[in-house]
Amino acid sequence: MVEQCTYEKYEFKKKLETLKSKSGRGTELISLYIPSDKQISDVSNHLREEHGQASNIKSKLTRTNVQGALESLLAKLRYLNKVPENGIVYFTGAVDIGANKTSMESEVLIPPEPITVYKYHCNSTFYLEPLEEMLKECSTYGLLVLDLREATVGTLIGKQIEVVRHLHSTVPGKQRKGGQSAHRFEQLRRIAIHDFYKRIGDAASEKFLEIEPSEFRGILIGGHSPTKEEFNEGEFLHYELQKKVLGLFDTGYTDESGFSELINAAEDVLQGADLIKQKKDIEAFFRELATDSGKISYGEDIVRANLEINAVDVLLLSEDLRSERETIKCSVCEYENKWTRRWKPGEVVPLAGNCPKCGSALEVTDVTDIVGEFSELADKGNARVAFISTDFDKGSQLMIAFGGIAAILRYSTGV
Ligand SMILES: [Zn+2]
Repeated sequence: MVEQCTYEKYEFKKKLETLKSKSGRGTELISLYIPSDKQISDVSNHLREEHGQASNIKSKLTRTNVQGALESLLAKLRYLNKVPENGIVYFTGAVDIGANKTSMESEVLIPPEPITVYKYHCNSTFYLEPLEEMLKECSTYGLLVLDLREATVGTLIGKQIEVVRHLHSTVPGKQRKGGQSAHRFEQLRRIAIHDFYKRIGDAASEKFLEIEPSEFRGILIGGHSPTKEEFNEGEFLHYELQKKVLGLFDTGYTDESGFSELINAAEDVLQGADLIKQKKDIEAFFRELATDSGKISYGEDIVRANLEINAVDVLLLSEDLRSERETIKCSVCEYENKWTRRWKPGEVVPLAGNCPKCGSALEVTDVTDIVGEFSELADKGNARVAFISTDFDKGSQLMIAFGGIAAILRYSTGV
């Protein structure tokens, strides 16, 4: 039940934040975006050209760093047989690590969505905008637009609209043919409408019931009045889905273009739905806290202990939680230790520093991301993971007062 999609988003966001916090001392950090249709040999040729031009850079240090970064990239490209389907992005350069020192760093990212434009960028910071736009949204909505002639069923995942089914009706128009009694005509028409609503309800239910519950935010219904109201009041959707209808909205079209109209009309509802779900989760936590039921826990160690005995029902993690546990070793003497580093989004990630015994540089030998570790533990114990933003009062309390980690328990564990 882990919101895998949400965790992937967290991981990707964290990677971008880390890259964003880095800067060079001169114009010497290289970002290289290679789309899948680009020839690797063309890229190598381009980098060799840049290497030649870099010899004109006045500052000797910057020149050496830029050329060093280009050489490192060229070496990497030699091992790349084929550009992945979504493309590949390299970040390389001499990063300022303070105390008048730089360190040559590189990072390779396979983007979650295809990159379309080849880009070579050399500056004092990494170029991240195209990736920042890809931060994956996983909230899923069921979409339905209908009138008496046609209906379209689809989904909205993040910003992506997908059309699933298109249905046509056999409902006759309002003009009856000569010879038919008005009463009989109206009766047949009502039957045809009812059948059409039923077909729509079945098609929509079939699709919407497949949506991952932890990502499912609700259903939007669009079309003309009073058709959509009549459909909704008739409860033609599966009873579990009927509760998930977020609202009815007027749209002029009932085909795919009706979906765009529907999403525009429902903008406020869409923005609110995600937050409403988060608020419900955090309010449940505060309710248990107030009643002193013992069915909650918070703080890294205690929540971990409860996860390990499968006592957690809902794991609440702040979206702003940035924390890693690391094993650090001295590169010279015997010193070895573990520490947890914490930082805020957008802050420079703190470094382990120097050996307290001999003053040499410390090496990080093992890194565990806390959010990753906790998500995995939750998955094993069938706990639901809820990521809570700090954009509202109780959400920021989770971060400030409870360290960003809390849990609603299945029973009181006394831990
Ligand atoms: Zn040492």
